[in-house]
Amino acid sequence: MAVEGAGDADVDCGVTACVALTFDDGPDAATTGRLLDTLAHLGVHATFFPIGSHVVEQPGLVRCEAEDGHVVGAHTWDHADLTGLSAAAVRRELESTATAVRDATGHDPVLVRPPYGDWNDTVREEAGRQHAAIVVWNIDSQDWESRNTRAVVDRVLSTVKRGSIVLMHDIYPTTVDAVPEVVEGLRERGLTPVTVPTLLGGKVGEGWVYYSQHDLVRPGSTQQTTE
Ligand SMILES: [Zn+2]
Repeated sequence: MAVEGAGDADVDCGVTACVALTFDDGPDAATTGRLLDTLAHLGVHATFFPIGSHVVEQPGLVRCEAEDGHVVGAHTWDHADLTGLSAAAVRRELESTATAVRDATGHDPVLVRPPYGDWNDTVREEAGRQHAAIVVWNIDSQDWESRNTRAVVDRVLSTVKRGSIVLMHDIYPTTVDAVPEVVEGLRERGLTPVTVPTLLGGKVGEGWVYYSQHDLVRPGSTQQTTE
């Protein structure tokens, strides 16, 4: 399905070398607003995967994410490992989070990031039922582990490639501090940071799983393919 609302939808990542920066686990009152200011200053659009129970505590920050042209997905209600849940429980996790995001932004999230990147057939069927795609990543900034700005910058810039989806978290001040140098380094390498829908050409497949621009798993398949 087509994804609307991305502030960078005019970028053609079939021509331009693109990378998607993604930020999980927010919003956080201490860090998310500062990250939004930083991204606006840099002229960069990103993708946020907030936790539903955090969205209802800070709906204004999530509204700002959308109003600034970022894309807001969903990262479950309470950061559950979805692969350990029944279909009904997965559905509750996704529906409650979608409701919170819709209430905050006016739009249903069409991207789901399962906590820990763990998904199974049940998770993608339930995502597809909500007309959403699963978005994982192929570059882990390891910001959750290092909590160190220099380490985050070095990790991303030493591993990123054209088409990468980069995992970061907007709840760590060290990550927010790393963003200007990450963006500068990407641009020096000829890479343009964009939202996930823009990276994927403005469309996402319901129930599809994306690891990067070209690495994906189709519905009904367990094979990660490159196209
Ligand atoms: Zn997370």
